[in-house]
Amino acid sequence: MKDLINKLYITNSLSFDELLYIIENISKQEDKDYLFEKARNTRYKHYENRVFLRGLIEISNYCKNDCYYCGIRCSNKNITRYRLTEKEILKCCDIGYEIGYRTFVLQGGEDSFLNDDIMCNIISSIKSKYPDCAITLSIGEKNYNSYERYFLSGADRFLLRHETSTDCHYKKLHPENLSLKNRKDCLKNLKEIGYQVGAGFMVGSPFQTNEDVVRDLMYLKELNPHMVGIGPFIPHHDTKFKDFPHGDLDKSIIILALTRLLLPKCLLPATTALASISENGRNLGLLAGCNVIMPNLSPHEFRKDYSLYDNKLSAGEEACEYHKSLEVSIKQLGLLVDYSRGDNIEWRRI
Ligand code: SAM
Repeated sequence: MKDLINKLYITNSLSFDELLYIIENISKQEDKDYLFEKARNTRYKHYENRVFLRGLIEISNYCKNDCYYCGIRCSNKNITRYRLTEKEILKCCDIGYEIGYRTFVLQGGEDSFLNDDIMCNIISSIKSKYPDCAITLSIGEKNYNSYERYFLSGADRFLLRHETSTDCHYKKLHPENLSLKNRKDCLKNLKEIGYQVGAGFMVGSPFQTNEDVVRDLMYLKELNPHMVGIGPFIPHHDTKFKDFPHGDLDKSIIILALTRLLLPKCLLPATTALASISENGRNLGLLAGCNVIMPNLSPHEFRKDYSLYDNKLSAGEEACEYHKSLEVSIKQLGLLVDYSRGDNIEWRRI
C-alpha cells in the first residue's frame, strides 16, 4: 500500500487497477495517515498552508431539472421556492466584502427566469462594484454562447460537477433529458472559453461502485480542472433516493486525498456536505489535502429552502457570521486563513 501511495505522490498518476486497489484495500489507520500526510505535503508544495475562503450565495432554488438525488428538483412540490433579486445578491456581496471575501460563488438551480441578460447584469454589477473580486458561477448546463456572455460580463470560474463519468450510472441518477455527454461538453466549452473550471462528483451516490469512483478520478485526471468538488451523497426525504444511506466519511476523505495527489494544483473544497455528515468532517477534509471552504453568505431567511439534502448545515462555521470561529478552527490545524481571490496557480485570465 505504501509503495503505491509513494508512486502516486511522485508521479501524480496511477493506473485504474492501482487506484482501485487503494480504494478497496486501504484499511489500516497507519496507511490512511500516510496517504493524508502525502496529500498535505502536495498541497503545501503549491499553496503552502493556505485555506481559501469564498462566500457562497445561493441565488435561486427554482430548477427545471429533476435530478433524482437533489432536494430542489422540479418535481419536489414540498419546498418553498425563492429567487434572490440583483439587489439582494449585491447586499450579500457587501456583507461578504466587509468580512474579507474576495470570491463570490453564485450557485443555484437551473432557473429559466434567470436568463442570460439578467445573469450578465448581475455579474457586471458585482464586478463593477468589486473589481478586485472573483466571481464563480454554479448554475448548471448552458450553451456555449451563454457561458461566453457570462465570462465577458466578468465571471471568472464555473463549477459544474460531472456527477459520474459512467454513462449507465449517470442514467440511474438523472432523467432521460440529461446526458453525461452534454455535461462533459459543457465542461469542455467552459475550459475553452477561459474559465477556471470545477468538476466533481458525490461519494456514495446510489448504485455507485468502486469502479465508477476510479473512472471519476481518471476522468478528472484527464480533464485537469482547476477546481474539484467532491462530497458525500446525503439523502433528501422528498426524493426517490430518500432511503439510501449517506456516503461514508472515511471513504470521502480518502478520495479527497487521492484527488489532491492526482491533481496537485487543484483547488479542493472541504464541502458543506462533508461538514454536514460529521462534526469533524471539515477538519478531516482539510487534513486530507483540501484547501477551500465556502461559508454560506445567503440571506438567513432563505437558507433553509436551499435544501439539496437533509440536515444541510448553513449555521455555525458553515455560515459567514461565524467567520471568526472558522478562522480559529483553521489555525488550530496549523493552516493559514487566506481571504484573497485564491486563483488556481496555473490560471491567467486572457
Ligand atoms: N444546478 C447546478 C448544477 O447542476 O451544477 C448547481 C446546483 S446543484 C444543486 C450543486 C451540486 O449539489 C450538484 O452538483 C450535486 O453534486 C450536489 N448535490 C445535489 N444533491 C445532493 C445530495 N443529495 N447530496 C449531496 N450533494 C448533492
